[in-house]
Parts: sequence; structure tokens; C-alpha cells
Amino acid sequence: MRVDVLGVGFDNVTMDEAVGRAVKFLDGDQARYVVTPNPEIVEVCRENPAARAAVNGAALVLPDGIGVIKGAAMLGTPLKERTPGIEFAARLMKRMAAEGKSLFLLGAKPGVAETAAQRLAAQYPGLQIAGVHDGYFRESDPVAAEIAHSGADVVFVCLGAPKQELWMAEYGPATGARLLCGLGGSLDVFAG
Ligand code: UDP
Repeated sequence: MRVDVLGVGFDNVTMDEAVGRAVKFLDGDQARYVVTPNPEIVEVCRENPAARAAVNGAALVLPDGIGVIKGAAMLGTPLKERTPGIEFAARLMKRMAAEGKSLFLLGAKPGVAETAAQRLAAQYPGLQIAGVHDGYFRESDPVAAEIAHSGADVVFVCLGAPKQELWMAEYGPATGARLLCGLGGSLDVFAG
């Protein structure tokens, strides 16, 4: 059961539960995706039905900011806790490293994903980097095909919202990955 905040349905899970669910998706046979909307994205979804459908189509919808937590509480349907995308990603990579899973980084300006990959590989020994691609491409099909060819288990899609949500909804299955995570400006943060 999801908690509705102005048209976006949030999963009422703790960070532990969120990471546990995401890891389980890796054993599935579908391309599932995770989104972490903040109040700005909820606002975008109110005016943009395609964005709303893409966000609500995620297998996990996690509240990124305190604004969403406050909104849900005010509506009388409190959420358990804040689950910021960047923290979720860190927890997920720890689990992936322990299990030798592979990660593809998609997004940000040319060069950023490469730097992020080097830093993450050093920070999470055991984490396999399947590949990287910047976020300024014209055609999505070749990018999805490149990810599929890389054999990545997980893709971090960092194109900003709602672009990344729309991309995951449309091209997720073509990537062959079982999990995609829409993580906004995270690659810039990981690159330092
Ligand atoms: N970005 C991208 N392709 C685009 C537009 C944006 O790869 O066509 C990247 C941008 O370089 C930045 C990220 O997406 O790394 C968006 O970060 P921002 O902080 O604006 O997004 P938010 O986290 O607020 O969704």
C-alpha cells in the first residue's frame, strides 16, 4: 500500500527495507526501477501526467526530502522515514560489492561518470563497474544497447528529474538490467 502525496504514491519503508527490496529485485527477471522524489518533483508530477505515470510506475518510490515526510504527516498518513537517494545508493553499493554485482553509471557531463566510477570502485572493493556513459546523448536506443552489452546488474540513471524517470520507464527493459535507480545529481557528488 502506497501513501499518496498529491498524486505521487510513496512506499512506506525504512531505509533498511528499501535496500532489502532493491537487492531482491536483482533475482527477478524484470527491469524494475527506483525513484526518490522530492517536493519539486511531486509538483512537476501534478502538472505533467507523463512524469507522474513514470514516477508511479517505479517498483519503489522513496521520499527523498523532509518536505515529503512533512506533507505525508500533515495529510494524516505518515511515512516511516526519509530515504534520500544518495544514501540509498551508498547502502545499495555496499550490498552489491559484497555480492560482486555490476553497476553502469549513466548521466552527468562528459568525464564525470568516469571519475565517479574510479572513486566508487576504490570506495566499495568488490563492486564491478560495467561501464559509464555521459548524460548528453541524442538517441537512447544505442545507449540502452550499450548497457545491455555491458551485462550490468544495476544502472544509476542520473539525468535529472523527470527526464531520468521517463527514461527508465521507456528504456529500462532494453538495458537488460534488473534494477535502475534515478539519482539526479549523484554522479557529480560521487565524482567529488
Ligand atoms: N543531466 C544529464 N543530462 C541532461 C540533463 C542533466 O546528464 O540532459 C545531469 C546533470 O549534468 C546533473 C544531473 O543530470 O549531473 C541533474 O542534476 P540536478 O541536481 O539538476 O538534478 P536533481 O538531482 O535536482 O534531479
